[in-house]
Amino acid sequence: MTLRVGVIGTGMIGQDHIRRLTQVLSAVEVVAVSDIDGARAAAVAPEGAEIFATAGDLIRSETVEAVVICSWGPAHEEQLLDCIAAGKPVFCEKPLVTTAAAALRVMEAEVAFGRRLVQVGFMRRFDADYRRLKATLDAGILGAPLMFHSTHRNAAVPEGLYTSEMPLNDTLVHDADISRWLLKDEVTGVEVRVPRRSRRGNDLRDPVMVLLHMGSGALVDVEISVNITYGYDIRGEVSCEEGTASLPLRPATVIRDIHGVRHMVPADWRERFIEAYDQEFREWTAAAGQGTATGPSTWDGYAATLVADAALRAVETGALEPVRMCERPSLYAGGRTVTNVSGAPRQSKRQRPEGFK
Ligand code: NAP
Repeated sequence: MTLRVGVIGTGMIGQDHIRRLTQVLSAVEVVAVSDIDGARAAAVAPEGAEIFATAGDLIRSETVEAVVICSWGPAHEEQLLDCIAAGKPVFCEKPLVTTAAAALRVMEAEVAFGRRLVQVGFMRRFDADYRRLKATLDAGILGAPLMFHSTHRNAAVPEGLYTSEMPLNDTLVHDADISRWLLKDEVTGVEVRVPRRSRRGNDLRDPVMVLLHMGSGALVDVEISVNITYGYDIRGEVSCEEGTASLPLRPATVIRDIHGVRHMVPADWRERFIEAYDQEFREWTAAAGQGTATGPSTWDGYAATLVADAALRAVETGALEPVRMCERPSLYAGGRTVTNVSGAPRQSKRQRPEGFK
C-alpha cells in the first residue's frame, strides 16, 4: 500500500523532506503540496502532485492520507488542529507551536480525538549515535546519570533572519528534547548565562550557556554557539555514577596534506543528521500507514515549548526560572512526572572511599 502524503511549506526543510519522501523512501507518494508562496510550491512539487492554495484545503483533500508540516512555527497550530479535525496523521517540524497555550490546545484536541496523530520533528531521537548513547544509559551499567554536557554549534546563521531569541526558542528545543529522552526525566527549571559575545555574531546574543535542572536533580549544560564558523558540531557526554558515555566525534572526512591532519566536521544539520531524518520518516510513514503516530509526541513538543519559554524569561531575570507542566494525559503515558526545582546537582549514590578528601 502506498501512503499518499501532502506537504505544507516548501522552503528549505520542506524541499529536503520532499526529496526524502520521493527518492529515499518506498511506499510513499507526495500527492499534494502547499505553500503561502504558490510559485515556490509549484516549482518544487513532484510530477503529478496537486498544488493547493491553502494548507486547510490540502489537509481536507480526500487524496491526502497523511500530512507533513514544514511551514514556520506560528502557522503550525492551525494546521495541526485542522489535521486532527480531519483525523489525519501528521508529521510537524519543530517547534510544535510557539506558545504553551497553543501546545495545550493541540494536546486537548488530540486527546479528545482519542488516538495519537501528531509526531514532532525531533530527529536526534532517530540518530544512530544518540540511540547507542541512550541504550548504554538504559542498560544501567554506568549507574544513574548525574550531568549531561550538550554542545550545539552552528557554522553561521542568516543575518537579519536569526534573532537573539532564537538560540533559546528555536535551537534549544533540540537539546531540551534530547535531554528529556536520554535521561527519562522532565526539565523543572532553566538558567541562562550570557558570556562574552562573539564578534562574529554582529548584534546577536551569541553564544549562550543554558543550565537545565532535571526533576531527579541531574543537571544539563548546553552551549549554543551559532556563528562558530568551522561547521555544525553536535556533541554530548553524560556523566554517570560509575563512568561516562558520549557521542562519538563525527568527522565527515579526514584530510592529510602538507598542512597536517584535518578532521572535517559536517557543514550543517542536513549533512550531520541525514540518516536520522531518513529513519525518522521511515518510522513516521510506518505509523501513519496505521492511522497513528509513534515518535516524539505533542506532549514532547509541549515540554520543549515550556523550556523555551522559561529560557526566554531566565535570560531577562538572570534567575532559575521554573518549568511547570500540566498533568500528563494518559494518551502520552510513559516517562516520569516530576515537580522538584532544585539548585544542586543530583548526588552520586556511591560512597566515597574511606580517607578520601
Ligand atoms: P523556510 O525555508 O522559511 O520555509 C518555510 C516555508 O513555509 C516558506 O516557503 C514559507 O513561505 C512557508 N510558509 C510560511 N507560512 C505558511 C503557511 N501558513 N502555510 C503554508 N506555507 C507557509 O523555513 P525552514 O528552514 O524550511 O523551516 C521550516 C520549519 O522546519 C520551521 O518550523 C523550522 O524550525 C523547522 N526546521 C527544523 C529543522 C530540524 O532540524 N528538525 C531544521 C530546519 C528547520 P514564506 O517564505 O513566503 O514565508
